[in-house]
Amino acid sequence: MCGIFGIFNKNEASNYVYLGLHALQHRGQEAAGIISTDGERFYTHKGQGLVNEIFNGKGVIASLKGKIAIGHNRYSTFGDKSESNIQPLYAHYDLGSVAIAHNGNLVNALSVKRRLVNQGAIFNSNSDTEVIIHLIARSEKSTFLERLVEALRLIKGAYSLVIMRENELYAVRDPWGFRPLSMGKLDDAVVFASETCSFDLIGAEFIRDIDPGEVVVANSDGVHSFKPFEKSNEHKCVFEHIYFSRPDSMLWGHHVYSVRKEMGMILAKESPVDADIVIPVPDSGVPAAIGYSQESGLQFDFGLIRNHYVGRTFIEPTQSIRNFGVRLKLNPARDVLKGKRVVVVDDSIVRGTTSRRIVKMLRSAGAKEVHLRIASPPVLSPCFYGIDTPTRKELIASSHEVEEIRKYTTADSLAYLSLEGLKSIVGKDGWCFACFDGDYPLEFER
Ligand code: AMP
Repeated sequence: MCGIFGIFNKNEASNYVYLGLHALQHRGQEAAGIISTDGERFYTHKGQGLVNEIFNGKGVIASLKGKIAIGHNRYSTFGDKSESNIQPLYAHYDLGSVAIAHNGNLVNALSVKRRLVNQGAIFNSNSDTEVIIHLIARSEKSTFLERLVEALRLIKGAYSLVIMRENELYAVRDPWGFRPLSMGKLDDAVVFASETCSFDLIGAEFIRDIDPGEVVVANSDGVHSFKPFEKSNEHKCVFEHIYFSRPDSMLWGHHVYSVRKEMGMILAKESPVDADIVIPVPDSGVPAAIGYSQESGLQFDFGLIRNHYVGRTFIEPTQSIRNFGVRLKLNPARDVLKGKRVVVVDDSIVRGTTSRRIVKMLRSAGAKEVHLRIASPPVLSPCFYGIDTPTRKELIASSHEVEEIRKYTTADSLAYLSLEGLKSIVGKDGWCFACFDGDYPLEFER
């Protein structure tokens, strides 16, 4: 759960990265950083908090000089919250300097790191990304590209990367294609970003997605693509469509908004209910609730009002902060709810805490009945490929049947979108559905 952004060949490159990170803020709200280069020196600024807090100091962005820059929004899935883990990571080695920003999770970082440490390597951070830098630096191949490819062959897992050298910018997607990464164009500049919503903000044109297993380099010779890996089965993360990506992004050929809306429509077909109104849990449930309303003919309304100055519920990493989360973020619109039979649509249930609080909130605001509809299948298994889901024990659906979950949430009825229903929208093949079916495409170290 991170956002990455890179730009090559643009005056004031760091300004564009700042805007890009701002558009990708939903992908990580713990920390962010930008590293730029003017071809000689590298310039860095990182910090904890939101992008506009970190870079609002006078002259901060102007001090990040040069025409190449990369940036990263962080939400920790691996490694702790310490400053040394904030990306992009930077290192100096025999070929010069390199900076890297990573979205995803490596599944074999621990054993690779152990081996490197046994050989005398010293690590600055406990982020899994640092192993990639070590592997590049230790490779005996002569060109950077060869070294990078050799390093990538030794790692496994989910990685979308932007990597910057003094005079070039690389974009890489792992052979399984877990996380998104797109390429765009802004005048003569090349842009790479986790999501296309960041292209819209800076006025860049979307060119295409980086393919799974593809390495793209932008330098003074132009843009070149390499496919150094044997073809693997594609496993795009379906949760990007369900929750993680922004609805205005084009993700793997589909508009996220439209996919979410269709999820709501299929959900309405699969699990209709006799009710008066359909309301979303804003913001993540909005497109699906609109779909549910359109398909069912039930009136759409806003029964919960969101405070936009609070981040994503779950993005605060401790349970004590999370306990306040729902009330900090949502408040019922009593007039809308009073005496009504309400269908409330959310994108997913993870621990079940949010749904339970919402149902109670709706009832205390006067709703006569509360029917919970979830626009994804039950989350049964944790993610090891870069989405922050809790351990299996904390995932309510891993140990409870739907009826037990309904009782826990105190809803009058509860229904999830079926896995078949989800597949009927996105297709059966080319996806990682592990959080819903426990079928993990890649082994992971514990
Ligand atoms: P919970 O209380 O754990 O069931 O949280 C469910 C809520 O968290 C839903 O409203 C989702 O929109 C949101 N959510 C689902 N998955 C994630 C995630 N990986 N990170 C942050 N929030 C999430």
